[in-house]
Amino acid sequence: MTQTTYKAAVEQLKKYSYHYYVLDDPITTDEEYDILYHAVVAYEQEHPNEILSDSPTQRVGDQPQDKFDKAPHLSRMWSLEDLFNREELETWVNRITKSYGDVQFYCEPKFDGASLNLIYDNGILTQAITRGDGSNGEDVTQNAKTIQSIPLTIDYQERIEIRGEVVIFKEDFEKINEERLKSGENLFANPRNAAAGSLRQLDTRITASRRLVFMPYGIGVNSLEIKNLSQRMEWVYALGFRNPHMTHLCEKADEIETFYHEMRVERDNFAMLLDGMVIKVDSIAVQDELGYTVKNPRWAAAYKFPAIEKLTTLKEVILQVGRSGVVTPVAIVEPVSIEGVVVERSTLHNFDEIERKDIRLGDKVIILRSGDVIPKIVKVITAERDGSEQVIARPKQCPVCDSELLDEGALIKCQNLSCEARVVNSIIYFASKQCLNIDGLGDKIVEALHNCGLVKEVSDLFTLTMEQLLALEGFKEKKSRNLIDAIRAVKGCDCWRFINALGIEHIGEVASKSLCGAFGTAFDTASREEILALDGFGGEMVESLLEFVRVNQDKIERLRTLLAPVAPMKRVAVENPFKDKTVVVTGAMSVPRDAIKAILEELGAKVASSVSKKTHFVIYGDDAGSKYDKAVELGVPLLTESEFRANLSSFSDGTATAQGSGVHPKNSLFD
Ligand code: NAD
Repeated sequence: MTQTTYKAAVEQLKKYSYHYYVLDDPITTDEEYDILYHAVVAYEQEHPNEILSDSPTQRVGDQPQDKFDKAPHLSRMWSLEDLFNREELETWVNRITKSYGDVQFYCEPKFDGASLNLIYDNGILTQAITRGDGSNGEDVTQNAKTIQSIPLTIDYQERIEIRGEVVIFKEDFEKINEERLKSGENLFANPRNAAAGSLRQLDTRITASRRLVFMPYGIGVNSLEIKNLSQRMEWVYALGFRNPHMTHLCEKADEIETFYHEMRVERDNFAMLLDGMVIKVDSIAVQDELGYTVKNPRWAAAYKFPAIEKLTTLKEVILQVGRSGVVTPVAIVEPVSIEGVVVERSTLHNFDEIERKDIRLGDKVIILRSGDVIPKIVKVITAERDGSEQVIARPKQCPVCDSELLDEGALIKCQNLSCEARVVNSIIYFASKQCLNIDGLGDKIVEALHNCGLVKEVSDLFTLTMEQLLALEGFKEKKSRNLIDAIRAVKGCDCWRFINALGIEHIGEVASKSLCGAFGTAFDTASREEILALDGFGGEMVESLLEFVRVNQDKIERLRTLLAPVAPMKRVAVENPFKDKTVVVTGAMSVPRDAIKAILEELGAKVASSVSKKTHFVIYGDDAGSKYDKAVELGVPLLTESEFRANLSSFSDGTATAQGSGVHPKNSLFD
């Protein structure tokens, strides 16, 4: 880097920071920012005399916006030094242990949101200030008061600053963006920007509607006598603040590294976005001695997780036709590696979204892949356009059967029932895990069987013979036998699988189970009123079901004969607190959630996917998201996983006095 490129890099970083901190609308990924930032740091280390006073290395955040009153923090707020690998971690730890011996390090999640400083006086929340430039931030007190997890009063009379991160649940972020898409507003690039943007709303009602969450991580001005950070944080949680749970005291770099990897594995299970783990010296006395640089505490660092957002280029848009005929555009991007997975395609949902986001071929885009979630384009970097980008036209003809498409706005549909893509996808769906779970009948094999004319509709599967399969390329004796056996094995399947496999619009696994539970295999004889009376069934679902039954009576009959589905014997569950109750399970459990679901179903409970007034209990695990909050809001009794299990053992040994731990005021469970 030369002096000229250094100056240009500082300007570029300032521009990035302005969009990121002030407008909550970044124009690049954190990764790109960090790469440039570290090049600037390297240059400044070699040329300390040339450091520009407005370099981002010399200051925290950016100037606060004018739209709120500015307010000073009682004590400064800081940024954090970043660590990216084991080597950097060791250097950082050694720097401290060299002078202070075997100190302990308090490790906790680094939540990705917006910093907030809460000032309490005489036990009352008097001011809430964003971090701003570290000395002065924006006064967002009225907005902060709408956040449920910020106590308005605390049981402590001295003046104190409680610091934390305002975050948004991943699922709420999705919902907000869906709404913004509908109303033609700019989308938030990620949950961080959504949280920061929602906190800094002039209309307090908007902030209130966004369901923000405050995760405390530290204390500013205080007169506490508690000598360790870990104990101070326990004290803070006891005041009524949210506990992030995943915290740990570590001694050596090895131990920190191990915990870091555990947290990385857990990253996807958190309801909110984590971008790393924060490591802090536990002893307050040692913290005080270590002090601060111009920007960071010397006693804390952020050990960053690999980026989940990457910058890439949109190369092409291909069209996929689903079993219902809906045509979905799929983006083909310049391949990028995200957390070790090469991402080449991303869903674009529909053409309205392409138009609203103004996505064009050749655009630089930010792509996000979080856990198992399908990668998605979260933002187009319009500032990078050079004019060669091309608008993506709405399709008029089906890319598979060439018939004219029906353009309903958000949805574009191929209406040709015999369109090959529709037929093949219905067969794939029929054989899939959540339907008949036919081993060995994956996408490729279905396509091959369809292309050679052997399987034109699902019922053809049941007449396949060994001879026919053996004549196909790639089908040897064993593979053919296994497939025939797997198809035969579906005879006598659970009745709900048969209903689900029919592929009725709006009727998924949960609804199929309800139908099967209520009407058994004769679900198609139920009346509108009977179906509507079922929990979770709305008008749209009932109409879709009745219409399907009307049009497809023959198909249902044929498959019923072929599959001979069996409705479960109505076993009468032993008397227990969950029998005939509607239960929602949310958050990370010690076992897969499906296992808890199975236990509940065995107990005669109905496991629902969303919380409503009709929900009897919510069983929640670590970092339960908005379902937990909804339960609190509606006063639905809450149980931790261990409370649930304790209840199980108490009734199974005949001492059925099941109770929650008082997690929620209305937690008198079984009255
Ligand atoms: P940071 O976000 O990396 O770390 C400091 C902040 O972490 C604190 O202020 C606090 O808000 C938060 N935090 C979360 N959990 C915490 C915990 N347990 N303890 C202490 N703090 C915790 O630092 P920063 O100065 O806010 O931002 C710098 C980073 O922001 C850069 O590394 C870059 O990734 C990103 N950035 C991106 C752009 C862009 O255009 N994409 C622009 C500017 C900055």
